[in-house]
Amino acid sequence: MRTEVLIVGGGVGGLTTALKLASCGIDVTVVEQQKGQAHTYKGELLQPKSLQIFDRLQVFSYVKESGHPLKTIKSIEKKKVKGTFETIGISTMNYGVIDSVFNYGLMIPHERLKEILLEKAMTYPTFHYYQPARFVEFSDDTTGVVKHDGETIFIHAKYIVGAEGRKSLVRKAMNLDIEEKRYDHHFLTVTFPRPTSMIEGEMIATPTTFLGLFPLPHDEVRSVYLIPSGEYKAIKEEGIESFYKRYIELCPALKGYVTQIPSWRNIQLMIPVQFHASEYSKDNKVIIGDAAHSVHPMAGEGMNLAIQDADALGDLICWMEETGETSLTNLKWLEKVRKPKVQHLLDTSHLAALAYSMPFRKFPRIRNRSFQQMEKDQKLHYKQMLNLSGLGLWKESLLDRFIQLGLFPARTSEKSDVFYRKHMFTTKVDYPWRNEGGEVHGH
Ligand SMILES: Cc1cc2nc3c(=O)[nH]c(=O)nc-3n(C[C@H](O)[C@H](O)[C@H](O)COP(=O)(O)OP(=O)(O)OC[C@H]3O[C@@H](n4cnc5c(N)ncnc54)[C@H](O)[C@@H]3O)c2cc1C
Repeated sequence: MRTEVLIVGGGVGGLTTALKLASCGIDVTVVEQQKGQAHTYKGELLQPKSLQIFDRLQVFSYVKESGHPLKTIKSIEKKKVKGTFETIGISTMNYGVIDSVFNYGLMIPHERLKEILLEKAMTYPTFHYYQPARFVEFSDDTTGVVKHDGETIFIHAKYIVGAEGRKSLVRKAMNLDIEEKRYDHHFLTVTFPRPTSMIEGEMIATPTTFLGLFPLPHDEVRSVYLIPSGEYKAIKEEGIESFYKRYIELCPALKGYVTQIPSWRNIQLMIPVQFHASEYSKDNKVIIGDAAHSVHPMAGEGMNLAIQDADALGDLICWMEETGETSLTNLKWLEKVRKPKVQHLLDTSHLAALAYSMPFRKFPRIRNRSFQQMEKDQKLHYKQMLNLSGLGLWKESLLDRFIQLGLFPARTSEKSDVFYRKHMFTTKVDYPWRNEGGEVHGH
């Protein structure tokens, strides 16, 4: 069969790309290997930029009504005193400092988000979806071999998008290098019922662990709990009661809630990995999302980077086809636009991860001071939230880092809206091909 764009992988990245392409009238085919809905936990925190993208793709109202808005994330530092944990510092990161209608995050069950994207894409006649359908290899440069319903299908396409996650076969076929970075810690992750009063995000840290609590709709909460790498088996052997105890001693409000997790079978081990592919495109092949980069989950960015890549790639191919600028070198625009933004978030997430790694984990006061300085210093707070939101980029300076470490006092000067707005991405920055024409400058 023939299609204009073959997308391998119907995760959030693949489906968002397909939705954008189908909305431009481009013939697009997605192949997804899973049989039904996945039973593994994946990213569920939508950052403001992703909300803006879904607004433009006309699915925002469904996304919003299926999610739980997060205006703030509280960072709580605790220390054991005479056998019980006591709070030694609290600071709050507030999305409200961003000058946008999308000045909040949204927690949404991952499979529900995919369902919304798929339902909308199905409304376009040029969208085709095969599930379960597994891409296995290329028979030539433009033809993907896919196993579906016991048959082998050959899908011939002008453009091929690898959106099939970390173990991308398309990336392999492109012979791209990745260098994986591992961490000295892993995470346990599980969703369970929450107290109705728990409506904002909370990150509770101690010298040895970390518990992230992110409320979902329907009075549920998604949690991530840091453990030293290699200790999963021993912790599991302690039994489920010991798991409940670990949560309750950090957050007593979870008593009667975390205990509703029936067994260890509901708890998933998450191993953070970081890598960034050297290139995003070669000839007619492009990779996006986790196929192109993997980010430490501390800053909640993985799914958002996939959505933002998808939006940029979708728009680029729409523009190439609308204008007849179909030279495949134009696909390099994706890398030019997305790679620096992705790299900054990879670095930010890595830095956040280090704060909870050995030996930094032994210095809770530095971490606590850093969060408190960020809350006090308006500029630092704005930069942090803007960069996480994906709506703009304002890199931290050396002075910012010194302030963050408490070596200089926090700045409390009035903010100038015009100056701050300058760092938000405009459509010119997000989709430069629409202004600068067919050549990729400065690549
Ligand atoms: C186990 C796990 C837990 C995570 N938890 C968090 C978290 O708590 N917070 C956070 O921010 N981020 C988390 N992430 C990261 C986040 O979920 C991802 O960054 C995001 O889902 C990336 O989207 P994607 O579309 O690029 O890839 P994916 O979501 O991985 O989607 C890829 C899709 O491709 C399909 N596929 C793979 N190979 C083939 C093939 N050969 N043929 C056809 N289909 C194929 C897969 O079945 C899958 O549906 C997690 C990721 C994983 C893997």
